[in-house]
Amino acid sequence: MIMWKEKAFEHATKEQPLECCGLLVKDKGELDYWPCRNVAFKHDVANFVIEPDDWAICEDSVDEIIGIVHSHPEFNMEFSPADKASCNALELRFYLVNPNTKSIIYIDPEIGNVN
Ligand SMILES: [Zn+2]
Repeated sequence: MIMWKEKAFEHATKEQPLECCGLLVKDKGELDYWPCRNVAFKHDVANFVIEPDDWAICEDSVDEIIGIVHSHPEFNMEFSPADKASCNALELRFYLVNPNTKSIIYIDPEIGNVN
């Protein structure tokens, strides 16, 4: 099992029943999972909002942020319309993790896609 995936599964399990969120990063040629705090409760939204300080610290600490990783309540494996909108807005790959089945799926931003 690849290490960043294990870390993401662990984080998702720990955060239940809340959604976990974090960043998939590349540092010194290695992929890693960078757990972030979910501050959705501050914004009164149902999904997740990455604590901006966590994002900033991550950005300063690693070579590159590759994607956004999160989980869903009860590990429903469907990207929400909000996920798709954020994915496009941030222009980063969006990952969804399910520690129960050890699966990870992702979507890419629809840059220049007409549909
Ligand atoms: Zn989601």
